[in-house]
Order: sequence, then C-alpha cells, then structure tokens
Amino acid sequence: MIRFERVTKRFGDHTVLDGLDLTVAPGERVTLIGPSGSGKTTILRLLMTLERVTDGVIHVDGKPFSHMPTGPGGRLVPASERYLTPRRRRIGMVFQQFNLFPHMTVLANVTEAPVHVLGLDKDEAARRARDLLDLVGLADKHDAHPTRLSGGQQQRVAIARALAMRPEILLLDEVTSALDPELVAEVLDVLREVARTTDITMLCVTHEMGFARDISDRIMMFDHGRVLESGPPQRLLDAPEHERTRAFLRAVR
Ligand code: ADP
Repeated sequence: MIRFERVTKRFGDHTVLDGLDLTVAPGERVTLIGPSGSGKTTILRLLMTLERVTDGVIHVDGKPFSHMPTGPGGRLVPASERYLTPRRRRIGMVFQQFNLFPHMTVLANVTEAPVHVLGLDKDEAARRARDLLDLVGLADKHDAHPTRLSGGQQQRVAIARALAMRPEILLLDEVTSALDPELVAEVLDVLREVARTTDITMLCVTHEMGFARDISDRIMMFDHGRVLESGPPQRLLDAPEHERTRAFLRAVR
C-alpha cells in the first residue's frame, strides 16, 4: 500500500532521511517509534505531500505518488498538483493539534470535506457523519462547537472527520501528545476500535507503547532517519536487539 524507495529528504544541508526503504502492506498497522528528530513525522508529512522528497520515490497502492510517469517511456518526474489531488484524498491524517474549524459545529466539521471535496449529497454526508460520531462516542455533541469540547473530544471529532473521507490509509501523528494525561485513554480507545472494525492501513507515530503494542502488526524503531530494527510488537518491545532501542524504551516507559 505504501512503499518508500530509497527516499532521501534534506532540509538545507541537514539530511533527515537518507535512502530510506519502507513498505507497508494493505491493511497493515505500522507504528514508528524512536527519539525526537529521527524523521518519523517527516515520513508522514511526505505522505501528506506537506513536504516533497529530495530524492527517491514514494509509491502508494503500487503507483508512483511523489512522482508521476510522463512521456512515452513513462519517465518519472515530480508529481504535479493535478496528479496529486485525487491520490491525496485516499490518505487521512490526524495531527497532534486537532485543527478543527472553530466556527462550525461538530457535525459540519465532519461533513465539510465529504460535501465540498467528494461532492457527496448533504443528507448522505450527515448520515455518515452521525455514524462516525457514534463510533467515536460523540453522538450527543453534533451541534456543539469545538471550542466547547475537551481536547480528547476534539481529537475524537478530528478522527471522525478523517474517517469521513473514507481513506484507505490513516496517518496518526502523535495524536495524544497535546492532551492532558487523563484524556489520552479515550482517544486511544477510539483508535483501537477503528483498528478493530476497519481494514484501513495505519501508519502511526506515538510514544504510547501500550497503544503501539495493541494496534500494531509491526513496530519500526527509527534512529537518525534509518530503521534501526523492526518487528512484531512483542519481539521489538520485549526483546529488542539494539541497545539504542532498549535505552529508548526505558526512557518512554
Ligand atoms: P521526529 O518526528 O522523529 O521527531 P521529524 O521528522 O519531526 O522527527 O524531524 C526530523 C528532523 O528534521 C529534525 O532535526 C527537524 O528539526 C528537521 N526538520 C523537520 N521539518 C523541518 C523543516 N521544515 N525545516 C527544517 N528542518 C526540519
């Protein structure tokens, strides 16, 4: 579903990712862990096209994504906006900061993109939004404004909003790190439920190791833009091979 082929990302002369190869299978749940600054968020931002690769190619669903084929030989050139627009829709993202529209109700936040981007009928979009707000436990908050909600509730709206676009891939970037500790569990429980009830491919960055253990098929430990080691949660969390992984896990637990 996602394939990074020798992806390099530089900011000026700072190389964040250096020839990274990474594959995520359809329906797979992969969690990226590692020290701050190791390039995890950059990977998600490249997939959201908030950043462009410096070198290498990202493929999504077997087709070039960061690049597009052109000319008779199908030579790859950097993807244009027009090429990216429909492909980007297949990827949903939930950020640390919820980024909800403050002037719109909860329901309107969830229906906005399906109506305006996908062209869904308003009633149909509202019906779907209600189902999703049920799923995230906010059935009674349709008409509330985000500013009246707790951080945990706002983040659950953000999850419903991302799912409303029916993405094939869901990217989760430290979705609990802006929350007060007592609100973390409700958001992670909702995501566990999403993982349990859908077959969405998920790529997460988190410091919540209990959550990573529960939802991941595979955890990848990053260090300086490279995959230090990767494996099923039990193997990686309980019997890491590298001292750097052990030190990192001691620090976050
Ligand atoms: P992580 O998510 O693992 O904490 P990031 O992907 O956020 O790491 O960042 C990796 C490195 O890239 C950091 O050193 C960060 O300072 C740098 N970086 C990220 N975004 C930018 C940017 N827009 N401009 C310059 N440097 C950046």
